[in-house]
Amino acid sequence: MTRKRAQVAVVGSLNMDVVVKAKRAPKMGETVMGEAVHFIPGGKGANQAVAAAKLGAQAVMIGAVGDDPFGRSLLESLRKSGVNTRGVKTVPGVATGIASILLTDEDNSIVVVAGANGRCLPEDVEAGREMLSGADILLLQLEIPLETVLAAARTAKELGMKVILNPAPARELPEELYRLTDVITPNRSELEFLTGRPVDEGGLEASMKVLLERGAGCVVTTLGAEGAALLSPEEGFRRVKGYAVEVVDTTGAGDAFNAALACGLSEGMGLSAAVDFAGRTAALAVTRLGAQDGMPLRKEVEEFAK
Ligand code: ATP
Repeated sequence: MTRKRAQVAVVGSLNMDVVVKAKRAPKMGETVMGEAVHFIPGGKGANQAVAAAKLGAQAVMIGAVGDDPFGRSLLESLRKSGVNTRGVKTVPGVATGIASILLTDEDNSIVVVAGANGRCLPEDVEAGREMLSGADILLLQLEIPLETVLAAARTAKELGMKVILNPAPARELPEELYRLTDVITPNRSELEFLTGRPVDEGGLEASMKVLLERGAGCVVTTLGAEGAALLSPEEGFRRVKGYAVEVVDTTGAGDAFNAALACGLSEGMGLSAAVDFAGRTAALAVTRLGAQDGMPLRKEVEEFAK
């Protein structure tokens, strides 16, 4: 049986992750010598677009980079994976978004500078309307201005598309955005932030219900190694177990999950089947290094945990 090819659009961020490894973090005012530096393409939007393309989707992206080597390198990484980058604009005079990550033996700390991601505007969504109309699912995150996220969700609904909102990093959301969202996908801490209540095992379903009551079509909560939970009016509340794997790098696990969920739904899978497909994709992604490089190919997901 041939399946329909997924058609996924992403409106979101592109960041260069500048990862510095050092034995310890410097104290205020101190300089320490680091051991290595790596430049790794990232940004939730770009990671999700790459993951969708690697799973076989026709993936298009709307976003913004600066006119600098990081921006060119991020565009190259998207293209290499087969993402259509016609909707990613290059903004002169603004730096490409970066995440400056200090990895030490004890912990890590991260400073994110939005840069050009802050220039991804509602007018860019309007300019990309025709591109969006070729897709049936829109994937959104919260690393670009909220007004752009809202404009993209409105446009998607006008075009008859489904909207998946990955509310990361967490922030207060307007009621309208919940109502425009078919599937909202917080992780545990984002769910806690959005509902303002701690999520223990007994309270998970009740917390997810709060987001349904705000207007989201259904809720999928990712729970790290424990898998995920879903709540929808049709399927009710269900836990979906995680896959036991050897973890190498969990960066981008959420991005792999969201992209696969979008692909599954676009191909016509039911919510439970799409959540299981997403869990398999994300489990494979955490066994590999790098967010974009670590995203698995479709045939690898199909071979995994048969
Ligand atoms: P990140 O911010 O690291 O990208 P996240 O916090 O958004 O991740 P998680 O809930 O940690 O999201 O993980 C997303 C999904 O990835 C989980 O629902 C699960 O399917 C898979 N996953 C994450 N960690 C593991 C793990 N250790 N083993 C197996 N699967 C995992």
